[in-house]
Amino acid sequence: MKTVHPLPDAASVVPVRQPLISVDKLTVDMPLGRSGSSVRIVDGVDFTIGVGERVALVGESGSGKSLTARALMRLDRLAKLSGRVDFDGTDLLKLSDRDMGKLRGSSIAMVFQDPMSFLDPLMTIGDQVAETLRIRGVGKAEARNRALAVLDELGVDRAAERLDAYPHEFSGGMRQRVVLAMALVGEPRLLIADEPTTALDVRVQDQVLDLLDDVSTRRGLAVLFITHDLGVVAGFAERVMVMYSGRIVEDGEVASVFAKPSHPYTQGLIKAVPRIDQDLNTLYAIPGAPPPPLARPSGCPFHPRCDQRFGRCGVDLPALQPVGMSRVACHLLDGKGA
Ligand code: SF4
Repeated sequence: MKTVHPLPDAASVVPVRQPLISVDKLTVDMPLGRSGSSVRIVDGVDFTIGVGERVALVGESGSGKSLTARALMRLDRLAKLSGRVDFDGTDLLKLSDRDMGKLRGSSIAMVFQDPMSFLDPLMTIGDQVAETLRIRGVGKAEARNRALAVLDELGVDRAAERLDAYPHEFSGGMRQRVVLAMALVGEPRLLIADEPTTALDVRVQDQVLDLLDDVSTRRGLAVLFITHDLGVVAGFAERVMVMYSGRIVEDGEVASVFAKPSHPYTQGLIKAVPRIDQDLNTLYAIPGAPPPPLARPSGCPFHPRCDQRFGRCGVDLPALQPVGMSRVACHLLDGKGA
């Protein structure tokens, strides 16, 4: 059974920070084969991540969370993006491909779920970590020294000896540290981590999360952590954004969202996190599955699965509204009589 991390108490919630990245009405449309038409996967997403803030983006597979993150770095060449993504005062969606390329790795970096698919099996670890710097014109010796320093910082045993080792000589957890080193060697200010612990066993998963926690605190690094598993969010993130069918449906401080989730989908996700003392026969799963983007239901896209739906839910799309320090998209906020 997975580890369920202890929740932060409300007093440990961080104050509002200076914005690092602000996303405004971001949409992502993907082409449908060669038909010339497209399908909207991300549908008008707004959020801000503060300097040094750790934010989790959570949702089931197909919710649009990974495509949202990839859109921030403009990684999908076929995706049509609209809206604004302000990073340090620059709209990333308006940057030339060349300038965007320079920014990747230096200001914003990303790590993915499967380190093996990211690492070149024929290149030494040292060369792969140093490559980000070499591309930016850093000399060979300095790039190697900085690669060594970051591998050391990330707890790779005998890093100096292992600079000349190959990926297959490392365990899964150590490979994820190497991929993290590749992302961090350029000293980014925002790290996007897309399900970085999903392929790891629970013990190694905890080690990687602790490591991310340390590095983020020490470097003042903002992290956007993408996961389908609310259980890992509690111990790591300060804020959580819940995504469903291409939209954010709840956004708030982790402690308050876990203590009192407002959106029925968030309530279901929290109920589905297994507890250490739970009888396996009582495990909960939200009934049904998220709709495919081409067949979104009318009104609230969650309504076919929602046990609290009422009259207008199948007709009107709920807007994301402020509720105290959080934001929630659900008609229940207006009362069932509305
Ligand atoms: S708007 Fe209606 S269907 Fe959607 S989550 Fe709220 S209660 Fe459920």
